[in-house]
Amino acid sequence: MKIPKSIRNLIEAFERLPGIGPKTAQRLTFYLLHVPSEELEMLSSSVSSLKLGTKICSICRNVGEDDPCEVCTDRGRDREVIAVVESPLDVLALEKAGFKGLYHVIHGVISPLNNIGPDDLYINDLMKRLKRESAASEGTEGSAYNYLSGDVLDSAASGEIKEVILATNTNMEGESTAMYISKLISGLNGQSSAVKITRIGRGLPVGGDIVYADDITLKRALEGRVSFNL
Ligand SMILES: [Zn+2]
Repeated sequence: MKIPKSIRNLIEAFERLPGIGPKTAQRLTFYLLHVPSEELEMLSSSVSSLKLGTKICSICRNVGEDDPCEVCTDRGRDREVIAVVESPLDVLALEKAGFKGLYHVIHGVISPLNNIGPDDLYINDLMKRLKRESAASEGTEGSAYNYLSGDVLDSAASGEIKEVILATNTNMEGESTAMYISKLISGLNGQSSAVKITRIGRGLPVGGDIVYADDITLKRALEGRVSFNL
């Protein structure tokens, strides 16, 4: 018997999602066959509007509804500290743990096995951001940070980045990515004002994902961050 094309297409679409194998893809598809049409409409419109309703922030590269995002434009946050994280999910985890600084999302890790190099991530953007910040604090190249306006521009200009917390995961790829970024920033420090580099650690299991750490452990890991200048 031939499986109808529309069913086959959906199974194949599910199979392409992370963590979903052929069995689960089939189960989900046949489950949806029994769901009322209105619910299916809602699901499909959520899927199709996913990209339309979200933007990648041009400053921190986090996913939000506006560009710049609500964190980057929030004057109440500590604008001297940037946490570098792998994914937008890590931002949510750090928010829950009470972090009040800024973020930079690099969207992945350096992974030679998967052909992912530094240029495939938003690492260069971080470097530009740090350069821009130091230029602003030195009172030169004022136009370099034109991407912000009004009140936010004022706070960005007066708030120099003093610390970069490398909050990539504690597995091998996360560690080597943190090391790579640390080296780049250290090189940058040579030309401009020094930025302190720290790495979250205490309490986090080695090889673990930040997203899976509980709030208290993550909060302690943030508080107990250690200097990471190579
Ligand atoms: Zn942002």
